[in-house]
Amino acid sequence: MNFPRLSLASLVSTLRGLGASRAAVLQDHEIHTLRDLLWQLPFRYLDRGSLCDLGSLGSQHCSMPGTTRTLVTVIGTISQVKSIRTRFGFHILEIHLSDDTGFVKVLFYNQPYLAKSFKEGERALIFGPLTQGKYGVEFRVPHYELLGSSTEDLFVQRILPIYRRLGPITSKIRSKLILDALDALHPPEEHLPLHLHRGLPDELQSLRFLHQPPDDSDLASLNEDRSLAHQRLITQELYSFSLGVASRRDKRLSRKGQAVVTSDQLREQLRTYLPFTLTPTQRRSFKEIADDLRSGKVMNRLLQGDVGSGKTLVAFLAMAMVAETGGQAALLVPTEVLARQHFATFQKLLGERSNSLQLLLGGMKAAEKKEALLRIQSGEARYIIGTHAIFQEIVKFKSLQLVVVDEQHRFGVRQREMMKEKGIDPHWLVMSATPIPRSLAMAIWGDHDHSTIEELPPGRQPVKSLFFSREHAEEAWAYIDRHLKTGQQAYVVSPAIDPQDESKVVLRDLQTMEILLRKRFPKVMIESVHGKMKSEDMTDRMKRFVFGATQILVATTVIEVGVDVPNATIMVVDHAERFGLSQLHQLRGRIGRGDHAGVFIMISDQESERLKALLTLQDGFAIAKKDLELRQSGDFFGTKQSGLPTFIVANASRDEDILTKCKRYAEDHVQEGLSPKERLWIRLEHKNFTLADIS
Ligand code: ADP
Ligand code: MG
Repeated sequence: MNFPRLSLASLVSTLRGLGASRAAVLQDHEIHTLRDLLWQLPFRYLDRGSLCDLGSLGSQHCSMPGTTRTLVTVIGTISQVKSIRTRFGFHILEIHLSDDTGFVKVLFYNQPYLAKSFKEGERALIFGPLTQGKYGVEFRVPHYELLGSSTEDLFVQRILPIYRRLGPITSKIRSKLILDALDALHPPEEHLPLHLHRGLPDELQSLRFLHQPPDDSDLASLNEDRSLAHQRLITQELYSFSLGVASRRDKRLSRKGQAVVTSDQLREQLRTYLPFTLTPTQRRSFKEIADDLRSGKVMNRLLQGDVGSGKTLVAFLAMAMVAETGGQAALLVPTEVLARQHFATFQKLLGERSNSLQLLLGGMKAAEKKEALLRIQSGEARYIIGTHAIFQEIVKFKSLQLVVVDEQHRFGVRQREMMKEKGIDPHWLVMSATPIPRSLAMAIWGDHDHSTIEELPPGRQPVKSLFFSREHAEEAWAYIDRHLKTGQQAYVVSPAIDPQDESKVVLRDLQTMEILLRKRFPKVMIESVHGKMKSEDMTDRMKRFVFGATQILVATTVIEVGVDVPNATIMVVDHAERFGLSQLHQLRGRIGRGDHAGVFIMISDQESERLKALLTLQDGFAIAKKDLELRQSGDFFGTKQSGLPTFIVANASRDEDILTKCKRYAEDHVQEGLSPKERLWIRLEHKNFTLADIS
């Protein structure tokens, strides 16, 4: 055993036996430090006792196919590797695996490069559900582990940890690295308050346990993240996160904010801009925002509300409050389509006062853009609507007092830092249409205050939701027919296709869908939009749909965010199984905005519990809760853009109780002040916290 000399912050490259090429693979997978390496836990634990003989596959003991989706594990020798190209250019890799008792087929689709990895005569571990094929049971796209030609027993212990693949680094090499790391580690300091870690193992013990579970461990609790070691890591992750958040909030509240001078009179006046009366919780939200703007502190507020609840209107009022008292307010949105749409909405609301309104887009012509920037700099423009992208550039404001961010949180955090560096510290309002349960929101968006719109504007009719298998897709088209006949419009949504990702070609993609629809609706104007097209093209096509020149819009999820076309009353989503629940709910929110009842149809061959939930649930909060239960919060929020934390072990929904508890302790502790060591620790735990956040 090595003398302990490394810390969790040490780079993996300090491990002996890690060559440059392996180090590069780890880098590619964002594994830089020992912490990164050790916190990537096995995603599954296999029990030696559960290995199946190939001869007994399909028997009661080794999962009858079709009845359950039980996962089966086998080990065998690769006896044949066949590459098959079908008529449609589709690739199938067929591998035969044998042992003394029988053989089984293992199939991979459109991954021809895998053929190289499977070598005849070598052994492989296969793990996945069994499917009934034409000639017996088979594995389709299972998890696999190449064991090489060695016949030595893979199971040194009863329980075998299985890791997600790291390119060419096999589980075996990885286990070795992990063992080296564990041996070399100096036990990390305990940063959790006693109340949070009492009864739980320490960090090192937990990691050891999870990477090398002793023979007598409980397999179910390991596989369900319920072991004490899991609890420990979850608590640690959520506590350090909560510290970071509490610290950020504490810092903000100690800054002086620009006080917006406002009056009841102004509030009355603003109301007259509106074509309808606010719902009770729209009114409450507006009041909460107005109070913040006057408070002399810096506002950081989250405005939540189900899709269609009328967040834009509240944002408008907040912006008007600033703009009508001499300041500037900016609304940042993720797409140009949305920017133009908000611009049109604001134009209507402002009427003849629209000259104080300014659009700012990346796609603007140079002269136009220059003028826009000048108007912003001179203060002539008071209401500024633009895409996030353009705000990354240098925009000089005369007196920016309020920023409203629609839909993308991460943008807010980073942008705010940049602006602060330039000496601007405006009030900040973030709008999210991904409603999450209040207690969870409090914990995750801990550095924000919260306003929630709880009801939909009056007169909304619930959207009728239906589900058809691909075989019955014609029923969906018949629905569209009926809607078109009465002058309404339709969306058809297809999953985005990435041509780089060959595994997806089996899907009916956007173009195929467009062709199919043109055949089915020969006399109808159809256009398609997707994220890869030029922004002007997309804008033109959207415009034609908005003005009713196009009847069917075939789209990827680019229309998910905020697009508002009241005459579009039906939406069909193909391959619904490829979308998250909240995403489907967002999509559904695009229809049923006008006087007609909307129809929402999902087409899928997987009639899962997940999709069925949408048929009965209409409330975004309930759907989000369900969605969170079904997957990790990271996926849920679309990690990359959301800026919400991606927890490694914790799951914000499942672990809500722990999160709430951690938040409480963290807030108390931040009041006492953090030590320099603790600040370093938080940054090691959560790379998205900058030094400026944690003080
Ligand atoms: P979201 O919260 O999804 O951003 P929007 O702000 O786009 O919702 O509003 C959805 C629709 O509801 C818009 O057409 C808007 O004009 C309308 N709306 C908003 N508030 C009210 C209200 N108080 N009464 C009636 N209609 C409203
Ligand atoms: Mg919106």
